[in-house]
Amino acid sequence: MNASGNSKLLFTCPHHGLGELDELSLRCEDHLPYTCKKDPGQKFSNDNDVYTHQLTDSIVNNILGLSGIKPYEHVAELHRKYVDYNRRYECAFEPYIIQARQKYLDYHIGILQKIDEMLPENENGLAFLFDIHGTGREEIEIGDQVYPFEVLIGTDQQCSIRALTQIDPKVWWDDDKGLIPLLQRKGRKVFPPNKDLEEQNHLLDGGYAIQTYGNKKRLAAIQIEVIYPIRKDTTRREELAEDIADCICQFVKPFI
Ligand SMILES: [Zn+2]
Repeated sequence: MNASGNSKLLFTCPHHGLGELDELSLRCEDHLPYTCKKDPGQKFSNDNDVYTHQLTDSIVNNILGLSGIKPYEHVAELHRKYVDYNRRYECAFEPYIIQARQKYLDYHIGILQKIDEMLPENENGLAFLFDIHGTGREEIEIGDQVYPFEVLIGTDQQCSIRALTQIDPKVWWDDDKGLIPLLQRKGRKVFPPNKDLEEQNHLLDGGYAIQTYGNKKRLAAIQIEVIYPIRKDTTRREELAEDIADCICQFVKPFI
């Protein structure tokens, strides 16, 4: 890791805001803002990714302990029932709730400002964004096979990590350097468990934030989703945060 200067790591946490609005969020039947009726994506959720704020804090603090540099952290303010920060603008909130729109814009402008600080013009090297989520799933069925997992990792079929694979095309699945292989080495069950399944399973492969910010020239963006039984159990959550922090430090080291 670079011994001085700003961190090159940013952790975002879009789905665990606790802020409330006076205005009721009265969503229409299909749980999508009317500006977004044609969106083929998932329906709006009224449930937060609970404990992801704690998980994000813990990963960040573990990385600080390991590297001596505190990563940037950017946590959503409003509850997900008002704003889904991991959606594009048209689909993220009811347009008549002005505060929701403002908070959505503030959140994404905040991310862009932090990226600017991580990637000054006069420097080479990469920066990384990790978007931290919870998932309600615990297994994925493909064909007649069931894959139980603890951690789901999304890269939009490696599109969001192009900045990285342009430097080292094989790094993502490299036994000694890839983030998923490093986690597997610690005994963690990760989906996708291998490159073939990554290619077959685009649906759960990351959302708006990594697709948007992973398009930047020197930024690799990765979505990390954690199952509920680990998030809710403090000991298991802390252990996982330690493992993720350690693997991320090893994974990013050659590039920052
Ligand atoms: Zn989420």
